Amino acid sequence: QAKSDHRHSLQLFSQEMNRRAQERAAMERALHHALERGELTLHYQPQITSDPVLALHGMEALARWSHPEWGPVSPAQFIPLAEEAGLIPALTHWLVNEVCQQINTWRAAGIAVPHVAVNLSGRSFHQKGFAQNVSNTLRQHGLAAHDLLLEITESVMMDAREVTQENIELLSQQGFRLSLDDFGTGYSSLSYLHRLPITELKLDKSFVQDLEHSETARALTISVLSIAKSLGMTVVAEGVETSQQCRWLKEHGCEVMQGYLLGRPMPAHMLHAWSLEASAVCCS
Ligand code: C2E
Ligand code: MG
Ligand code: MG
Ligand code: MG
Repeated sequence: QAKSDHRHSLQLFSQEMNRRAQERAAMERALHHALERGELTLHYQPQITSDPVLALHGMEALARWSHPEWGPVSPAQFIPLAEEAGLIPALTHWLVNEVCQQINTWRAAGIAVPHVAVNLSGRSFHQKGFAQNVSNTLRQHGLAAHDLLLEITESVMMDAREVTQENIELLSQQGFRLSLDDFGTGYSSLSYLHRLPITELKLDKSFVQDLEHSETARALTISVLSIAKSLGMTVVAEGVETSQQCRWLKEHGCEVMQGYLLGRPMPAHMLHAWSLEASAVCCS
């Protein structure tokens, strides 16, 4: 009896594994078509300087995929899939192009966006010629390196591959600024911070969300702010949802905030309406 139960649950297990593998494969096939079918779009989330309140620091571009049957698929799900499927070069090319067009559209409408931050997958840095591709695309749109801010993660910074370090070096020579995303969640060596051309740290939202309850989160945040200050880097706090968090961060010298309190990721055409409404947000 026990033996047959065991066999039965193994069978269920392998059926479940099989089903998931099929789902993944279907999603991967759909993602191949998503770009050409225009199913991918970008949303933009404002980053606000705390002093003076409500000056626009920049906008972060966040990829969105809406599948005709499944509806919205989270980037936390489809970006890793794109990485495994070898779709990152195509996705990044689309992303940089799209962002450049958008910057020009905003500027033509008289909306001053200092820069747009783009998230780069570590896979992009494994491509020889990646840095050159990015700067060529910018030039085609009549834009310059400081119109973008490139968000990388700690794992890219720590990636010892020659090709990765070469791409970082080339980007920096061409005047691109790098921002370290999700700072504090990875395994980075602090000594890398000043060896690489990092100009900004994005304090991970897990710290911000724990500020109110955790002495440790407060202590760690204070040390990140202090390290950044002594290295001449800007800190952007991610995931700011409450005015208490905003006030505490501001009091402790955090210069830039990003989060639902200040503005959700939105379609590009909403920026103008948002900026009018935003003057009502209280962050002091
Ligand atoms: P990320 O770059 O750290 O982006 C911040 C995430 O936090 C975004 O999730 C954003 O919508 C969310 N967020 C913003 N404010 C708040 C807040 O106040 N509270 C909470 N709880 N969340 C907030 P999203 O858009 O789902 O993106 C998830 C991740 O997917 C991004 O994390 C980034 O790593 C990746 N991603 C998104 N777009 C792209 C892209 O175009 N290329 C690449 N390579 N990765 C992307
Ligand atoms: Mg980011
Ligand atoms: Mg982040
Ligand atoms: Mg994140």
